[in-house]
Amino acid sequence: MQQFIGAHAFPECKYSRPAYLEQALDLLNTDGEDSKVVAGCTDFIPAVRKGIWQFEPGIKLVDINSVQELQKIEIRENDLVLGAAVKLSDLVNSHKVQEYAAILSQAAEEMGSLQVRNSGTIGGNLSTASPAADTAPPLLALSAKIRIQGRHTDKFLSLEEFFTAPGCTLLQPGELLTEIHIPLRANLGRMERCKLGLRNAFTISIISQAVWIEIEDTQVKRARIALGAVAPTCMRAEQAENFLTGKEISPSSAGKCAEIVSREVKPITDLRASESYRRKMAAVLTRRLLLRCAQSSHANN
Ligand SMILES: Cc1cc2nc3c(=O)[nH]c(=O)nc-3n(C[C@H](O)[C@H](O)[C@H](O)COP(=O)(O)OP(=O)(O)OC[C@H]3O[C@@H](n4cnc5c(N)ncnc54)[C@H](O)[C@@H]3O)c2cc1C
Repeated sequence: MQQFIGAHAFPECKYSRPAYLEQALDLLNTDGEDSKVVAGCTDFIPAVRKGIWQFEPGIKLVDINSVQELQKIEIRENDLVLGAAVKLSDLVNSHKVQEYAAILSQAAEEMGSLQVRNSGTIGGNLSTASPAADTAPPLLALSAKIRIQGRHTDKFLSLEEFFTAPGCTLLQPGELLTEIHIPLRANLGRMERCKLGLRNAFTISIISQAVWIEIEDTQVKRARIALGAVAPTCMRAEQAENFLTGKEISPSSAGKCAEIVSREVKPITDLRASESYRRKMAAVLTRRLLLRCAQSSHANN
């Protein structure tokens, strides 16, 4: 008998819940059989219900929630390493994430509801590759890299490389996003982020933004400005970053940098906001976040 999820019949599937990464990779690599990774299912179930994702009968579902290697939050050499199956609520509560990647922890706290955060994972949020994925701007700002593993592959990519188009990534069949690496030196910089939605909570971003800057002798040594929901993929505003480098952050330089960001973004008009509103808000938020970074820099000098 077929199981119905919402209006759509879910095909007969073979469900497995491996305990180790090697088993998960083996399950994903059985030649000729379709397989699908699932984690918290907070993107998966709504997409199946709406008929956006459809599968042939016999599909193999590989649930990675019990894979031990994917649950870790640990310091390894010079990186904070997050397993891909780490829950959003763990990002909120982890002292290590709060210490080394505060903007990621804060972003996770504003995602969905408590139930969604207790099920949804960081790996699922990145793999869905929504332009509005809220963990992506902080991770881009913090220079995070992701690790992708298959039975015969093991590679690191920057997030800029990973996202190729809305809903598309460089993940190949049989591969898993296994880890997110955030350099520990990221916490030497100032970081700020914010999310603008139609409501304060439980809402998809109209725009989300994260800024990371390293200041030396009052001047910006390095800057990373990352935005979500204003382009086909989460993006960095590299021209604005280059403009800022070597400058002191003041209302004037922050304002000019904000103008550059508003020209660099490539938003669309959709249900939530118009293209021109998103462009204007990209400028407003850039200025605001840069001045906040400058203030925290003065406070710490
Ligand atoms: C009510 C509600 C509110 C939400 N609010 C927000 C919000 O505020 N901000 C936001 O950004 N998102 C939000 N989401 C979306 C969703 O909760 C997140 O994207 C979540 O992090 C997805 O993780 P998951 O573990 O549930 O992914 P799943 O649904 O299990 O999987 C999503 C996709 O990623 C793939 N996948 C999962 N893990 C891996 C992996 N390790 N390697 C390779 N592929 C993998 C799956 O095959 C699938 O294609 C919301 C969703 C709901 C239902």
